[in-house]
Amino acid sequence: MKLSPDKSKKIIITKPSRKSGFPPGRGFVGQILLTLVIFIFLAGVYSIISDTSKSTEEISLSLLAQEISLGNVSSIIVTGDKLEVTYLDGGQKVSKKEAGTALTTTFNNYDISSEALAKVNIEVKNDQGFMYWFASLAPIIFPLAFIVLFLWFLSRQVKGAGMQAFSFGQSKARMTSPDDKSQRITFKDVAGCKEAKEELREIVDFLKNPKKFLDIGARIPKGILLMGAPGTGKTLLARAVAGEAGVSFFSISGSEFVEMFVGVGASRVRDLFDMAKKTAPAIIFVDEIDAVGRVRGTGVGGGNDEREQTLNQILVELDGFEPNEKVIVMAATNRPDVLDPALLRPGRFDRRVTLDLPDRKDREEILLIHARKKPFAEDVNLILIAERTPGFSGADLYSLMNEAAILAARENRTKVSQFDLIRSIEKVMLGPERKSHILSQKEKELTAFHEAGHAIVASVLPYADPVHKISIISRGRVAGYVLKLPIEDRKLQSKKEFLDDIAVALGGYVVEKTIFGDLTTGPSNDLQVSTALARDMVTKYGMSEKIGPMALEGAGGKPLFGMGVGDKEYSERVGAEIDLEVSNIMNEALKRVEKIIKEYKKVLETIATRLIEVETIEQKEFEEILVANGIVPKKKKDIEHQK
Ligand code: ADP
Ligand code: MG
Ligand code: ZN
Repeated sequence: MKLSPDKSKKIIITKPSRKSGFPPGRGFVGQILLTLVIFIFLAGVYSIISDTSKSTEEISLSLLAQEISLGNVSSIIVTGDKLEVTYLDGGQKVSKKEAGTALTTTFNNYDISSEALAKVNIEVKNDQGFMYWFASLAPIIFPLAFIVLFLWFLSRQVKGAGMQAFSFGQSKARMTSPDDKSQRITFKDVAGCKEAKEELREIVDFLKNPKKFLDIGARIPKGILLMGAPGTGKTLLARAVAGEAGVSFFSISGSEFVEMFVGVGASRVRDLFDMAKKTAPAIIFVDEIDAVGRVRGTGVGGGNDEREQTLNQILVELDGFEPNEKVIVMAATNRPDVLDPALLRPGRFDRRVTLDLPDRKDREEILLIHARKKPFAEDVNLILIAERTPGFSGADLYSLMNEAAILAARENRTKVSQFDLIRSIEKVMLGPERKSHILSQKEKELTAFHEAGHAIVASVLPYADPVHKISIISRGRVAGYVLKLPIEDRKLQSKKEFLDDIAVALGGYVVEKTIFGDLTTGPSNDLQVSTALARDMVTKYGMSEKIGPMALEGAGGKPLFGMGVGDKEYSERVGAEIDLEVSNIMNEALKRVEKIIKEYKKVLETIATRLIEVETIEQKEFEEILVANGIVPKKKKDIEHQK
């Protein structure tokens, strides 16, 4: 038998928690209702007051004059302009006289004989009463009151925004207090990043037990810089440090320093540090610090004084507080290369922690973390998903899991299946499928051959990644795609791999040129990617025989507007030579691809025909086609032998 639920308990549970500072009923809707009710009430009062005179029939002055002449009227009571008329037969009516004119004058104008008038008892009442004034002022007072009320209501609404505008010096940091258990994130919520966690555990130790460190004279770093690609969990890790140590966590984004008014950034920094010191031990986290921390003095277009002042203030604060103040500043960036060297000096952000993209094992762990709250079907194999997602960041994996759950929910299933996960990989990589984007027969054929071109080159060349899937269903901005995945995660890439990658990218181009005898705009992205790769080989990695071992372009990239603020460190002559080398690499690749396409034309046609038929070929079927045509598909072992 089921017991009926304990009522008192239920009331507590269902009671809405009131997080906003408004008293009950003063929410946004509450305020509107309140204003409306007051307005309706006042309007009602007004209409009742002004209606009292209308309860009896009103007659015109000329009609009244007539009645007096006829001798029907017994008395008239005058209150201000109002006339209350009593007839001989006892009937009552009201009328109005002209304002400011005596009643007798008015009646004289109507030519009433003095005998007739003498019969009427005219009584003038004092009209200074409250009701009189109220009634005559009401038409002015009520609209005024309404406007005042309306303004008051508006001012309450804009208070939030308005207050911000007036208190702009204050820091906009969000504080997470250690008592807030619902938002608490610990190292358990961060998968992978082993070295980073190791490094940060020291900081946690210090925040938890500063005395131990201070007694022995150890100097704990004030600033820790988290560096890593977007989505690798920098923000997450910073929160986790605060959560582990159980200290207050102030987080602010670099761009928020410079938001609204000039001159605000520096005072925000000051406020932020003051606030943190008051609640020490605490962590200040400046997310995306590159927004304020860029190298000073190279501002293209006049230099950004505001940013520089903010940065200076950060440096001043960093230098200003003592190690025993138990405030630690963490910052995150995905552009450590553009940071001002002054930030990285010892005593400032001298501790640097790098977060890498997760490897296969880490990806599996991240998937597991985000799988915690999701119901999975039995067929789900996260190891396989981890294998298929090299290059995915933690944020990508998070969004993959989410997409899969959405897919399952959309199809009214209660559990997430492996198929949902696999479909989500492609969605995260390439954007959603666009089935509505229908290719014409000609386009379909061209796309099929183009993609088959990539696929066949990738299968023949030894250092290219094996093909996982070919599709001519457009996704995001691409008409078709070949999904190639490396057999294992790689940190280093070799020259041979680069050359094969360039060749694979040219596969589509060559097929269009040789088989269709014409070129479309289709391969433009392929060309961009492969040319950039070739250029990097020459200028960054020293992979060109002619140029030799010289890094001609730093990680910073190309010169900006030719103003020399980038790091172009070579002469015009070398520049011409680079262009020549890039062109050589591309043309060499072209020759190789042309040879392959000619040699494997038959397989190419088989694949393309099949693609036109089914639109998507998975790895298994693709490899069967390869085997049937005498090409050995790549397996893990082969690659290892070749390396
Ligand atoms: P970043 O600040 O480096 O750009 P975030 O910390 O904001 O990245 O990460 C975005 C999201 O991705 C996180 O909220 C989390 O859900 C997920 N994520 C990233 N890295 C990890 C990780 N190592 N473990 C678990 N989840 C992660
Ligand atoms: Mg972030
Ligand atoms: Zn292509």
